[in-house]
Amino acid sequence: ATTKLGNGIFLPHLIASLEQVDQTYIMVKPDGVQRGLVGEIISRFEKKGFKLTGLKLFHCSKELAEEHYKDLNQKSFFPKLIDYITSGPVVSMAWEGVGVVASARKLIGATDPLQAEPGTIRGDFAVQTGRNIIHGSDSPENGKREIALWFKEGELCEWTPIQQPWLRE
Ligand code: ADP
Repeated sequence: ATTKLGNGIFLPHLIASLEQVDQTYIMVKPDGVQRGLVGEIISRFEKKGFKLTGLKLFHCSKELAEEHYKDLNQKSFFPKLIDYITSGPVVSMAWEGVGVVASARKLIGATDPLQAEPGTIRGDFAVQTGRNIIHGSDSPENGKREIALWFKEGELCEWTPIQQPWLRE
């Protein structure tokens, strides 16, 4: 998707990319915020090369938490999960990029932090499923759905990072 001109100037993304750009919803859960891991987590996604398009810290309502996790509402741990997610402020983020959904899941690691590989966020910073510090969407469809759920209109930012031509040829 990048055009290299004869004089060495790159014109990234003037030609529409054939590769699908996806969005994922990433959330630092209340334990991640309380433990001072917000900067570390943002940094990992930034350094990887994804684009941040939305970011806010807030204390979410029970209704929002229940809607977000509605697929799990028959699970025995559901009430505890809602208490956990609403127990303090969360950091909501929207990240964009080719392959961002699957890559974010790899950066995050397995749901059970004891099974998560070292080097992943959960593998490095957590020990229990009920305190696994971060959420990441599990499909591009859910990425879109969750971003629409957690962000209001006008809260997302369209921009072009200057590093883009150095990340993708
Ligand atoms: P993931 O967050 O890795 O996509 P799931 O969608 O299976 O995992 O579960 C959503 C969240 O519900 C988990 O991140 C975790 O916070 C919580 N959870 C899942 N299973 C359990 C469990 N057995 N006990 C307590 N909390 C759980």
